[in-house]
Amino acid sequence: MHIHIFWDSLAPDGLQVPVARSISAILGVPATVTENPVRMMGYVNERRQVDAQVLLDSLSAYKYRHDIHEPVLLVVSQDLFRKGSSSVFGLARESVGAAVVSSARLANEFYGKSGDDADIIDRLIKEGTHEVGHLLGLGHCEDRECIMFRPGGLDELDGKKKILCDLCYTKLKAKLATTLDISR
Ligand SMILES: [Zn+2]
Ligand SMILES: [Zn+2]
Repeated sequence: MHIHIFWDSLAPDGLQVPVARSISAILGVPATVTENPVRMMGYVNERRQVDAQVLLDSLSAYKYRHDIHEPVLLVVSQDLFRKGSSSVFGLARESVGAAVVSSARLANEFYGKSGDDADIIDRLIKEGTHEVGHLLGLGHCEDRECIMFRPGGLDELDGKKKILCDLCYTKLKAKLATTLDISR
């Protein structure tokens, strides 16, 4: 098992290594970062946002063409939405092992505050790990400090810790053990 992180060229540069390292450490699964090879689809002019579902279609097609069976997390800078929701931090499609996360609403600048790379790194780690957690078979968690808690906004995202609670960690270990069995 191995996590692929596709980093879009417009996503904040220089944060790739700390983000990938932490995602890997929290989940206990190796992760590598490469420049995003997937075409950015789904931009909607009127909303100035990207439809996360369309982007996941594109990512999923790429995975299929290139025979990638492992989870892929795409990191982009464009603001994302999904049908029925004005915006999303990220979105995972478990059935194809593809997820996307956006840095747009993770930056202080978006809220009129001064920027801080450490904040973006912290939030990208939490959001990215959360979405990959879904791809590895984890659902949402009630524990507000757990990575798998679904945050209602930036404050709740900031309130999470960069860890899985004991329950989610145990579940993940069991899921990973099953995955290894299948591939053997
Ligand atoms: Zn979630
Ligand atoms: Zn949990």
